[in-house]
Formats: sequence, structure tokens, C-alpha cells
Amino acid sequence: MQLTLQRKLAILADAAKYDASCASSGTEKRDSLKGGIGSTEGSGICHSYAPDGRCISLLKLLLTNFCVYDCAYCVNRSSSNVERARFGVEEVVALTLDFYRRNYIEGLFLSSGIIRSPDYTMEEMVRVARTLRLEHGFRGYIHLKIIPNASPELLAEAALHADRLSTNIELPTDASLATLAPEKAPSAIRTAMAHIEGKREESRPDGKLENGKQKPTVLAPAGQSTQMIVGADATDDSGILKRSASLYAGYGLKRVYYSAFSPIPDASSKLPPQPPPLMREHRLYQADWLMRFYGFDAEEIAVEGGFLDLRIDPKLAWAVAHRELFPLDVNRADREMLLRVPGLGVSSVNGILAARRHHRLRLEDVARLCASAKKVRPFIVADDWTPGASLDDSKLKARLTAEPAQLSLF
Ligand code: SF4
Repeated sequence: MQLTLQRKLAILADAAKYDASCASSGTEKRDSLKGGIGSTEGSGICHSYAPDGRCISLLKLLLTNFCVYDCAYCVNRSSSNVERARFGVEEVVALTLDFYRRNYIEGLFLSSGIIRSPDYTMEEMVRVARTLRLEHGFRGYIHLKIIPNASPELLAEAALHADRLSTNIELPTDASLATLAPEKAPSAIRTAMAHIEGKREESRPDGKLENGKQKPTVLAPAGQSTQMIVGADATDDSGILKRSASLYAGYGLKRVYYSAFSPIPDASSKLPPQPPPLMREHRLYQADWLMRFYGFDAEEIAVEGGFLDLRIDPKLAWAVAHRELFPLDVNRADREMLLRVPGLGVSSVNGILAARRHHRLRLEDVARLCASAKKVRPFIVADDWTPGASLDDSKLKARLTAEPAQLSLF
């Protein structure tokens, strides 16, 4: 029976929801005033979220959920009993333009199961991007998923048309990949990432912008990212964060996305009991943020038995475990240490450093510059403030742990 376009959309949009890597920020600025259709914002395109918290601001689709591979963690594996569908290239192009004109979306996120061969599948995805860009002058955001083992020429063309590319690393260790996705070669995934990064670097214009930042590359200006599935194997948070750190350092990735393993493992699963998946995913994102913007190493982020503390955020957990380093004098401490104070973000620290050039800071000055004075207070000294013995309080962690609250429905 021939599926209607609407039915295909229902199947292939649903099948794409497990891909977490859909944030659309960080690309170059384009607008349709110079012709074509659509525009991008330099950052912060507004997103909407599905009820399970996943970002769906892009038209997020699989080209097909047919797949010749049989990865054990994937709902679209060849042995899975799901309804299958496949879009033609022109159908995805038409849907993207239609949704864009109706203002439903900011761009397209396109992934696919593997049909026939990696090259065939990648060529179909590149055709979507090429048609949108060259035939329709589409200037909105495009994120393409890379099929490992596709030819370097196809990867280069994907980078030419897409804002962002992502190659899924899938699992935290090569051993897990060999067990759960034996048809996928870890070396092919890494080679694709390295190839894209090399091409992007070659395409970077010389020189720097006025603010000292390097000019963005011409190819895939929003960079490349990857996704790691959390909870499908026994790797703990410490192992996951170390793997992420090596990916950031080795391939210049913009983001590692963590995707909580959704299907419930069957009774024969040999996995040890796992923390609640969505909260674990959330804490991993916070820890990842600390590595990328706050100068933390993967090794030092506090873990209990290899896992992040789910009750408090990882920065607070680190500070509580290293309370001998606190309180810090906000009028003298260096930037690196101020960034480690719970409750002080990058902009708060920048504000503190700027303000203290002019006058000595009191607690109320710090409170104005940060989101939560209550969280900061036990860890700092200001001109009129010292936390006294509160850091020695054995109940400090409990005091700073947010009360569980019913989420608002509205
Ligand atoms: S190759 Fe991709 S779509 Fe196919 S089974 Fe593996 S993870 Fe799923």
C-alpha cells in the first residue's frame, strides 16, 4: 500500500526524535534580503520543545527508517518490527520549503537509515541540501547527519551546503560499539570526523575578526557535532566525560549530544542498574558545559562511584567536595577560580572582574551580578561578608539541594 505524505511524515519525524543533536545555533548570519528564501540568526534561533524535552525547532526527519544495519540500541534496526517509510528527495525539499513559508521551522535536520550503501544514502541526503540551496535559494539552517564510510567527495559536498554536520560516535567505547553495532567500524566514524574537520580548516579565511575571534569556515560554518547514547552500555559518567573530552580535543567538535537510551532493556540485559536516564542526561550536559566553558577536566568533575550526583549540579558537587579551597575573596580571586564558585556563570565572573576595577565589592554587588545569591554566599568573601562556619556545616549539601517540585504544566 502506498503511504500518504502525511503518514510518511508521521513515521519519519517520529523516528528522528531519538537524535538529540538538533540545536541550530552557531552558524553564520544570512538573510533573504539578498535573495532566496529564509534566513538564519548568528545564534539563539528560538527552539520549541517536545513534551519529553527534546528540541524540535527544525524540521527533523529521517529520509528513511529502512536500514540494512542492525544496531541493538536503535528502534530502526533491520530486525525491528516498526512501520517503515521512505521520502523521495523532492518530498523532503517540498516539505522544508512549505514548513518554512508557514513559519513552523527555522531549518532542516536530516538523518537517515542506511539503504543500499553508505554512498547511496549520503548522495540522497546531499541531493536534498543541494536542491534546497541551489535550485530554491534556501538560506535557512541545514544540519545533515553524516553516514560513515561515505566517500570523501560526498562529505565535502555535504559540508558545502550544510551549516552543521554530525557523525554519531554512538557509544562511549569501541568495545560497546563492537558488541551492540558490529556493522559499524569505530575507525570509519573517526575518519569521517577527521576528514570533515580537515576540510573545514582548509576553508577557513585568513585573519581574525575585530573581536579577536577567528573567522568562521566556509564549509559547515556551524561546525560538527556528535551524539553519544547514554545507558545502552555499562560505561559510567566518568568514562563518558573522558570520551567527550577526547572528542573535543581531537576533532574540534562544537558539541557532544547525550541521548538517554529510551527503550527499556529486556530482562536478559546484563547491564548493571542505571540511574534515571533523563536526569542522567541532564547532569551530563551540565558536566560537559563545565569542561567546555569553565576550565574543568573530565577527571576532576565530582563523581560518586563513577556517576554524577543526580541531586545537585556537578559544579556544586565539586565545590562541596573541595570546600577547603573556599571561601574565595571576590575582590582578589583570579578568573579561573571564580568560575568554580557555584552560582557564578561566565557573565557573572566577567561582571565581577570589571566592577572590582572601580571599587571593592560588597555582597549586594555580587548578588546583582549573579542569578542566585543564596547559592554563591557560602563560597565567597566580600567586603562586608564572610560565610563564617557555614562551609563546615555537614548539612551544606542538603541546604543547597533544591526541593523536588511538581513541574508546572503551563
Ligand atoms: S545504522 Fe543508524 S539507523 Fe541503522 S540501525 Fe544503526 S543506528 Fe539505526
